[in-house]
Amino acid sequence: MKNKNPSEVARETLKLLSQRRLLPTPDNYANIYAEISGTTVVKNDGAEQVLRNMVEHLLQTDQAAATGLALKKMLTEEKWDQCFKEIEKVLPKNQKDDADDQTWPVLIRDLLRQLDLPHKGLTVTRKKEGVETVLARFSSRPEILFEKLSNLVRSWSESPVTASLVEEAPEVPEVPEALDVPDVAASISTITPTITPTATATATTTTPAIITDSLSKTDEHAAEMLSKLAELLAQTLESSASTQPELTDEVRKLTTQVREIKTHDQVTELAKQLRQFWLKVELRGGDKTRIQEGLVRLLRLLVENVGEMVEDEEWLHGQITTLHEIIGKPLDKRMIADAERSLREAIIKQSLLKKSLTDTKSTLKSLMTTFIDRLGTITTSTGDYHQKIELYSQKIAQSNNLNDLGSLLDDIMQDTRIIQASALHSHEELLDSRRQVESAEAKISKLEKELSEVSEMVQQDQLTGALNRRGLDAAFERESRRVDRSHDPLCVALLDIDNFKRLNDTMGHQVGDQALVHLCNVIKEALRPSDSVARYGGEEFVIILPDVGLAEAASTLERLQRELTKQFFMYENDRVLITFSAGVAQRAEEESQEEILGRADKAMYQAKHTGKNRVVIAK
Ligand code: GH3
Ligand code: MG
Ligand code: MG
Repeated sequence: MKNKNPSEVARETLKLLSQRRLLPTPDNYANIYAEISGTTVVKNDGAEQVLRNMVEHLLQTDQAAATGLALKKMLTEEKWDQCFKEIEKVLPKNQKDDADDQTWPVLIRDLLRQLDLPHKGLTVTRKKEGVETVLARFSSRPEILFEKLSNLVRSWSESPVTASLVEEAPEVPEVPEALDVPDVAASISTITPTITPTATATATTTTPAIITDSLSKTDEHAAEMLSKLAELLAQTLESSASTQPELTDEVRKLTTQVREIKTHDQVTELAKQLRQFWLKVELRGGDKTRIQEGLVRLLRLLVENVGEMVEDEEWLHGQITTLHEIIGKPLDKRMIADAERSLREAIIKQSLLKKSLTDTKSTLKSLMTTFIDRLGTITTSTGDYHQKIELYSQKIAQSNNLNDLGSLLDDIMQDTRIIQASALHSHEELLDSRRQVESAEAKISKLEKELSEVSEMVQQDQLTGALNRRGLDAAFERESRRVDRSHDPLCVALLDIDNFKRLNDTMGHQVGDQALVHLCNVIKEALRPSDSVARYGGEEFVIILPDVGLAEAASTLERLQRELTKQFFMYENDRVLITFSAGVAQRAEEESQEEILGRADKAMYQAKHTGKNRVVIAK
């Protein structure tokens, strides 16, 4: 015990504390430490120092470094009562009284011993087969392998041992059981006596303590078993290499070493290497689990993604290529994590893209719908086109795919051209009709203008048949030009019916009209053909008398008056006398119509004012 290093002593101290259910006080630590190490309790802070040593030891390990850190903090804060709980975390679970049973060297030692024992109903071959089976099934899982091998060995040990063979190997069971050494190197040292004589000779130089002088029959047997066990261990290692190819080189190196074991030092060295190796195997096992989990997540992502992106084949191919690349390379958890991250990014981008794609599609759909709706309203075609448009509307509503929308658009454009052609045709017809209307309107306008011009040319009063104002103007113009050249006289008379209002009032307006017609007829009959009669106003007339002087003109008018007394206007078989008052004027040279009529008008008024039914010569 004195040869143990402080960390080993610390470890055992903890175990013993646990086993004895002692409180983890500094004093208890110190006492037990002293008990194990064979020293005396020195100082009060001895136990604390032990704990500190232990913390340093734990911090060196991979599995218990966290406990080391926690303990270090507790020590600084002097929380002694919490230390034990923390320490419990790293103590082996369900430990038996002899905790060393949990180590590989002890198991191997036990296996070797039990393999050799003549159990009833169990041959050595059968036992080997059992070991082979367990190794084959669990070599890639060291923790379970340990448990399964332990169970196997225990099952052997539970079988009764046959008497004869027990006698053959009486010392073997005692050797390991007598030892109470937890350390691997120390455990393996117990196997040393079973090494072949040649190896023993070399080993004695370094470990002389336990080797016996005489090599008994049992020793030979044990040496043979060690050789077999070494071979078994080598095979175990080799089978572990089959599940973890990346460890092949290391395994090959180790198996070579295992098969060449000859000295105690070699065993000690190998034990350390093996411990490191199993640790690595275990870590790699953990890595593999994480890799598998990562792969499963990756695949799930990809599958979800594929479901989302059924439309975009190109993108899908890209994703599959990426997955192929990942699977093609040696699996590494960092690479898988990278792939997962990039896939997630791709999915986010893709979902954004899909959103804008969906927006674009709906915009396109809405545009197309509007377009064909408008077409439907502008086309004059019936039946066919409207049915087509209805069909397109339905198709657009059902379509959720850009390709389909694209080909739909092509179809619509094709039909649209026909519709447009038809619409254009109708439009041309419409234009033609409009042109015809415009032409008709122009004709009407022309006719109206012509009519207007014609009406302007009319120079007769519609009621009496005498000249109208226009006729008067023309006649006066014509006669004036003529007398201007001939210097003949030209007289103008203006006459106004006397009391015509009363006639209208008593006999009615239509009778008044007839009276006007009657007057005109009398005048026309009494005048010369060269004379002109014009209706100047309602019941006012102008008579142009060319080539006559004032006196003759005045006598002409008086003659008219007399005629009127001869030719009565008849109303309901009653004679109605129509009389008028007149003013007569002779045109002066260059005198205008307006001027001469003005003078005649004055003379006419004078006639009115001087008793009516008379003719007055204008001044
Ligand atoms: P006076 O002797 O002062 O001329 O009296 P009057 O009644 O004739 O008065 P005035 O000349 O002022 O009235 C003319 C009337 O002649 C008024 C109108 O009713 C009537 N008259 C004018 N033109 C027509 C027409 O075309 N037909 C008829 N029936 N009556 C007309
Ligand atoms: Mg009048
Ligand atoms: Mg009058």
